[in-house]
Amino acid sequence: MTTVETDVFQTLESEVRSYSRGWPTVFESASGSWLRSEDGKEYLDFFAGAGALNYGHNNPILKSALIDYIASDGITHGLDMQTVAKRQLLETFESKILAPRGLDYKVQFPGPTGTNSVESALKLARKVTGRSSIINFTNAFHGMTLGALSVTGNSMKRAGAGVPLVHATPMPFDNYFDGVTEDFHWFSRVLDDSGSGLNRPAAVIVETVQGEGGVNVARPEWLKALATLCSEREILLIVDDVQMGCGRTGPFFSFEIAGITPDIVTLSKSIGGYGLPMALTLFKRELDVWSPGEHNGTFRGNNPAFVTANAALDHYWSDEALSEATIAKGARIADAFTDLSNTFEGQVSTRGRGLVQGLVFADPDKASKVCGIAFDQGLLAETSGPSDEVVKLLPPLTITEDELDHGLRILADATHSVCS
Ligand SMILES: *Cc1c(COP(=O)(O)O)cnc(C)c1O
Repeated sequence: MTTVETDVFQTLESEVRSYSRGWPTVFESASGSWLRSEDGKEYLDFFAGAGALNYGHNNPILKSALIDYIASDGITHGLDMQTVAKRQLLETFESKILAPRGLDYKVQFPGPTGTNSVESALKLARKVTGRSSIINFTNAFHGMTLGALSVTGNSMKRAGAGVPLVHATPMPFDNYFDGVTEDFHWFSRVLDDSGSGLNRPAAVIVETVQGEGGVNVARPEWLKALATLCSEREILLIVDDVQMGCGRTGPFFSFEIAGITPDIVTLSKSIGGYGLPMALTLFKRELDVWSPGEHNGTFRGNNPAFVTANAALDHYWSDEALSEATIAKGARIADAFTDLSNTFEGQVSTRGRGLVQGLVFADPDKASKVCGIAFDQGLLAETSGPSDEVVKLLPPLTITEDELDHGLRILADATHSVCS
């Protein structure tokens, strides 16, 4: 066994580092649902790059497409030039994803991160409507650049901006009150009241399941009502599917369950398939009012990501198998978590959809303790929510049932030792 050398991370890397604090080892390699540290320990991954690794680490199908592409001197950096890899990806995205769902979206390649996609969505909504204000939701997370941060809820992250974050108004997300009070009361009331002081918004931005915000799940009927409210008031609806898209909740787009068609959709994290940076912004054809180059970015043409994205869409989205397996595996986690909530009633509860599932602790300290014990037992799981009170599971969609059961046993044991 070699020792794990971590000095340089403490002496040289900024204090801003975070995941490395909860998982204080040095990772060396990974495949499928497992990471290995340099001292030879194996870690089952219930985190999957915060949802960027839906198809697992170094997925062999994507890896061989990538190796072939690199070996043939395929274009690596392409700005927004036309390339063979990009043409292939656009054609596959249309035939496997958009056309079967009856979605007539134009596709924009913003810079290759989620926050870039969100920035482009907000800019476009403002340009289309000529209005500046955006409605966001309590506990939302949309990214770290100023526009995206202005529609993000977390007060610690907002404070990091160092300037006032303006032109956004938070409204209650589904179930913010008691699940009985109609959450739209306030929103529709202030929209229609000329004395409310609410500026007429350009757009509403929403996650169907708030990942970073603590696995808060919006009901399909809530999303449907939101879409109706937006279209009646001529406000654009942006669904931020950066984390919940690409099959995380079951269907490719997380909003499919509600039968709605957002005006604008953001995708990143798992769209590149292999963990390579990539993002897409999708919008209805009539909203494509951009001037050439009005929103740009040096790394919009990350062609190796286009190759792995194409391979992932082609392999995993030609039929319903992945969606169905995701829903079945999600139910397996939900069953295990329901057992825990019954055993530790009052201390633990559960919520989720598909392969994003949360174990919610009344005492936030216990959630962190469970993740700490899990790490010692060889399992990576992170906390989320405003007080880090939720153990959030985001395993690769390709995880096997045996792997899932192995990780769930570790979590159950950890919960027993923390809560009994
Ligand atoms: C992760 C995330 C973002 C930001 O993506 P980055 O690639 O980190 O910029 C935006 N929205 C949601 C919902 C996310 O989960």
